[in-house]
Amino acid sequence: MPTETKTTCPYCGVGCGVIAAVADSGAATVKGDTEHPANFGRLCSKGSALAETIDLDGRVLHPEIHGQRASWDDALDLVARKFSQAVAEHGPDSVAFYVSGQLLTEDYYVANKLMKGFIGSANIDTNSRLCMSSSVAGHRRAFGSDTVPGTYEDLELADLVILTGSNLAWCHPVIYQRLAAAKAARPAMKIVVIDPRRTMTCDIADLHLPIQPDGDVALFMGLLAHLAESAAIDQAYIAAHTQGFAEAFAAAFALSFDELMDRTGLPAMQIREFFRLFETMEKVVTCYSQGVNQSSSGTDKVNAIINCHLATGRIGRPGMGPFSLTGQPNAMGGREVGGLANMLAAHMAIENANDRDRVQRFWASPTMAEKPGLKAVDMFRAVADGHIKALWIMATNPVVSMPDGDAVEAAIKACPFVVVSDILLETDTARHAQVLLPSLGWGEKDGTVTNSERRISRQRRFLPTPGNARADWWQMAVVARKMGFSGFDYQSPADIFAEHAALSGFENDGGRDFDIGALAGIDEEIYDALPPFQWPAPSGNPAFEEDNHRPGKSHAKRFFADGGFYHPDRKARFVALQAPATNRTDKDFPLTLNTGRIRDHWHTMTRTGKSARLSGHIAEPFAEIHPRDAARLGIREATLVELESPYGTAIVRALVTERQAPGNVFAPMHWNDQFAAKARISALVAPLTDPVSGQPASKNVAIAARPVEFAFYGFAATSAKPLAQAADYWATAKADGGWRIELAFRHAPGDWMAWCRQAFAIRAGVEPIGYADRQSGDIRLAFFDGARLLAVLFLARTPVAVARNWAISQLTADHSDLGRRFAIVAGRPGADQPDPGATVCSCFSVGVNSIVAAIRQGCHSVAAVGRNTNAGTNCGSCRAEIKGIIDGCLAQQAAE
Ligand code: SF4
Repeated sequence: MPTETKTTCPYCGVGCGVIAAVADSGAATVKGDTEHPANFGRLCSKGSALAETIDLDGRVLHPEIHGQRASWDDALDLVARKFSQAVAEHGPDSVAFYVSGQLLTEDYYVANKLMKGFIGSANIDTNSRLCMSSSVAGHRRAFGSDTVPGTYEDLELADLVILTGSNLAWCHPVIYQRLAAAKAARPAMKIVVIDPRRTMTCDIADLHLPIQPDGDVALFMGLLAHLAESAAIDQAYIAAHTQGFAEAFAAAFALSFDELMDRTGLPAMQIREFFRLFETMEKVVTCYSQGVNQSSSGTDKVNAIINCHLATGRIGRPGMGPFSLTGQPNAMGGREVGGLANMLAAHMAIENANDRDRVQRFWASPTMAEKPGLKAVDMFRAVADGHIKALWIMATNPVVSMPDGDAVEAAIKACPFVVVSDILLETDTARHAQVLLPSLGWGEKDGTVTNSERRISRQRRFLPTPGNARADWWQMAVVARKMGFSGFDYQSPADIFAEHAALSGFENDGGRDFDIGALAGIDEEIYDALPPFQWPAPSGNPAFEEDNHRPGKSHAKRFFADGGFYHPDRKARFVALQAPATNRTDKDFPLTLNTGRIRDHWHTMTRTGKSARLSGHIAEPFAEIHPRDAARLGIREATLVELESPYGTAIVRALVTERQAPGNVFAPMHWNDQFAAKARISALVAPLTDPVSGQPASKNVAIAARPVEFAFYGFAATSAKPLAQAADYWATAKADGGWRIELAFRHAPGDWMAWCRQAFAIRAGVEPIGYADRQSGDIRLAFFDGARLLAVLFLARTPVAVARNWAISQLTADHSDLGRRFAIVAGRPGADQPDPGATVCSCFSVGVNSIVAAIRQGCHSVAAVGRNTNAGTNCGSCRAEIKGIIDGCLAQQAAE
């Protein structure tokens, strides 16, 4: 019987509980934890496929110095020496850590303590800066603390849920499923989606507001002005618990309705309907995510939303409140330990001398950073201009994720000393490391994470340590000791968590929101068994003690229903705002690029890129573009398109769709140099940031788009990893039995057979079958090793129209039959091998053609399609897409 381990999903901020099991054979399986209060057993497609991402392929297993294997002692000696030397010669601000929301809280705590309390600089920032730092800044301005007032349960209890800048269906799928289930059970519940794109989330929306990028401040200012003159205004709450209402209202009132329509791009009727819903439904939750945060006005957007909740007193009560959905698994944990350059540990403020003194006394540290450090964009600028002499990057891939990515890559390359701690040998960032340190991955490391609703859960180890890898906290603690610092003698993550908990309660008389002092004395045994719990958990809290020892019980705590904010006067602040101009386009860059996530990939694909199932959903980088724009620019469906901004270019596949608003383009942020020739979309993003939070504006980027013509286009399925660089354009993805790759060539290589042998590692002596059509230019070549297909290449002068999933399935098929071999070269599935089409349901590998066939047989609901094909019956992440396919087919049938 395999041993089961309760742990937490390492992807998004929902923080789902996972039960992992490893059989005697070593095979791992995962399932949802029915007792975890975030997901109650559900997992999305990414969570369900976790077991497919934990192999050791491509892992870095030993420390390396300049690409040569080294001992830990030598590697960490060098790191300590270089950091100490830079500090001695150039001062503490000459070094920096760039860390990650993928770190566990214990790793984050040690990084922050070492940099702020011992090195004496606040130059530690994190990829969470790119994710939700505008929410942090907005919370701190309004509440005096970085507090998420509500819980996930509020979304189910609300009568109105507003999702602004959040494609919940793809980016927080389990919360989407909880919300969809709540709406199905209580159809009177209303859902409003505010998004420039018609995303899959709109499937459950009663109202979709296709707002102009960055129109949110104006929309919520208009709402505040409307509410102030309606019965929804809560004068008693405003008077008792807030300050600044008059100024905020005056600023909002000054925005005319015409200006409101102009800034939002929304028709009057839609705006009025939105206002009516908010006014008349008391239980309202407004969720916001990257569409709000990743903006040059992100902090103002957050405050515009919070203003409306404060004005109506709809905060901290069941089913009410503003709700920030965090992108990463431990963005919240990072905030709790002060992992951002402008924060101190345990939600204390770096600008506050008393807080600095308190933390320094607690740490018994020799020094303390006295001012905020460099935020991510400024940090890499300081690397570029030579101010940063030593940089340690942990668990993140800034060459792919940072705006102006090409400049970031150049800066890292030029930095005198770069350390990278990661799990993979080859990433766009790790290739520039002078010291590469092998970290533990999910399933190997041990610690805690905090999800979007303030719930702290254990990530537990269930796999052995691979090679010589070590935990990030261990790496930093050793370096700290080698630099001569005391206070880093941790033996385990439990030691670190106990210290973190003690600091949160240290001299905390209720004046700080983050308090988990109840766990200050935690020992290994209790830490190992710790069930998920929601903070605060101050010491001596009997409810906490009781609830947290009952598995599956939610220790729900909301903030601010009765005021008690964390400004010195315990009152919240309204923020008076100005609606920003939103249009960045000009004649050279006339389109607005919006970047984001897709359903089945995570960040830079270092883990999800290992799963054939996840890679099958969308296997190539793409840009969604409206049909009118496509027609005007001469971009045809499925051709290749070049996107260009003043900062960089990318080449991706055109996806012409009315989901996209005219004038706007959407492109995913995941692809990178490991998976495509030129698809790092962040390279196009300007290093333009929110003036308060420092968060980059990744959703409103002026670009140009144009078709790119190639002489030959290709598609191949290959059992060996392709040597992709052999083509001018390529995008590769894992497939069952091997890899798939899209190709394009500016000039035909002289000898296609020789090209295949090199690109697909075909050994000498293996001769292909195939054909070449002189007139059309079509070429097909297939190589076999006995009954096994090694590689098949389809080439044409226009984008290849072969049934891709069928072609890929031939990698695992038996080809003893000669007829089947020739069927591959013909590029046509036989009658006994129907082409399933592009994957929609990753769990059961159900393609779009199979779903359409079921609909034609009379399956006109998601449930009926599920009964017929299994699609959508496991994790449910594809249900919104299935609904879209049903709607499309039925509309087509009606028109016929
Ligand atoms: Fe993981 Fe999916 Fe849950 Fe997010 S919603 S934590 S990705 S299983």
